[in-house]
Amino acid sequence: DAYGDPIIIVGSGIAGYNLAREIRKHDDSVRLMMITRDGGESYYKPMLSNALTTGKHVDDLVLAEHAKMANQLKLEIFTHTNVTEIDSENKTIKTSGGDYKYHKLVLALGADQISLPIQGNEAHQILTVNDLDDFRKFTQALPKAGKVAVIGAGLIGCEFANDLASSGYSVDVMDIADRPLAQLLPEGLSKNLEFILAQIGVSWQMGCSVSSINKGTERPYVCQLSDGRELEADLVLSAVGLRPRIELAKQAGLHTNKGIVVDESLATSDPSIYALGDCIEMNGELLPYVMPIMHETKALARTLTGDAAKVEYPVMPVTVKTASCHVTIIPPKRGAEGEWRYPQGEDGYIAEFYEAGEKLTGVALIGDASSKAESYVARLSENTS
Ligand code: FAD
Repeated sequence: DAYGDPIIIVGSGIAGYNLAREIRKHDDSVRLMMITRDGGESYYKPMLSNALTTGKHVDDLVLAEHAKMANQLKLEIFTHTNVTEIDSENKTIKTSGGDYKYHKLVLALGADQISLPIQGNEAHQILTVNDLDDFRKFTQALPKAGKVAVIGAGLIGCEFANDLASSGYSVDVMDIADRPLAQLLPEGLSKNLEFILAQIGVSWQMGCSVSSINKGTERPYVCQLSDGRELEADLVLSAVGLRPRIELAKQAGLHTNKGIVVDESLATSDPSIYALGDCIEMNGELLPYVMPIMHETKALARTLTGDAAKVEYPVMPVTVKTASCHVTIIPPKRGAEGEWRYPQGEDGYIAEFYEAGEKLTGVALIGDASSKAESYVARLSENTS
């Protein structure tokens, strides 16, 4: 009710704000509070890895300041406030700005970029980009021209590599895998992506790790690679993966694994505490993408306003914003047994995943073939329903 303890949402990312928006579609008066340790700006995180080419400055990425969001969504919002502890027995959270009682608590904490144990006097200068503040630091550190080393050839590493190369930088991408997007794409398509991005100035240093970073002679940094080579760079960016933020939940005794474990209604092991977005694990899976979050917020908003609902994810394509070579993947279920096949005449731009002999349950598309995503979504929706 409007006067009792509020629903408290921790986190002001896409998950936090979209949940508030969805709740307001159902209930105009329930007390909503949001607590976030960042500045509370509403922004679309995927824009961070193609902002250079699109000519966007960090301030252009802010869709709305927190005060405007508070007003629009009738939300009490506390920014730059860190939640340090959950006292689930007393339904209270402890924060750097005092204690707050909740009726229901929602954790929309996101995920941290993993940082690798890299040696060297300049290792502390490695940047990661996971939010607006990181992006501001990155653009301030980036010289007008030069050479950037990107550690990690996964989704985010490839997007930054493309964005930097298209903006005139020479880019070295390093990864212990032997090809880009190795976890998402079958080999033939990875190789084509590798070739196309090489044309715009991406040098792939695959099958090796970075052991240390020290002061360079011609440029500020020199990266020592595990195979003995040295590469100089003006800036080193790391994008080697995400780790859900589970510490708060773990300390509160909630069930955690790789992520905060939730059931299909997004409830944690405490029925008054829910979680969604990049911090969760459901049925053993992490889905750190925007589209799942949209389905989660719709279901959770209904549950929190008295109409219990479960999340049902439709077939969801993952798109990689490598503008020079679009990539769209509908991954098969984790651990699915089957094989990738390359349809004839498609020159390695399409791969189809077949389970149990003949059932199409996944697809990977690169370049112009990405335009076929929609028709594959339709076919796969039939096959997996
Ligand atoms: P976040 O946006 O990380 O929000 C977490 C919030 O929790 C923050 O406000 C933080 O301040 C707050 N918080 C955390 N801990 C505390 C605490 N203890 N106390 C108080 N507040 C706390 N996905 C796609 O689908 N397509 C893409 O093209 C795509 N591109 C991407 C590009 C980049 C560079 C990155 C980094 C990600 C990309 N993603 C993409 C993933 C997508 O952006 C995320 O899945 C999504 O933004 C996660 O939203 P979230 O709200 O769960 O987490």
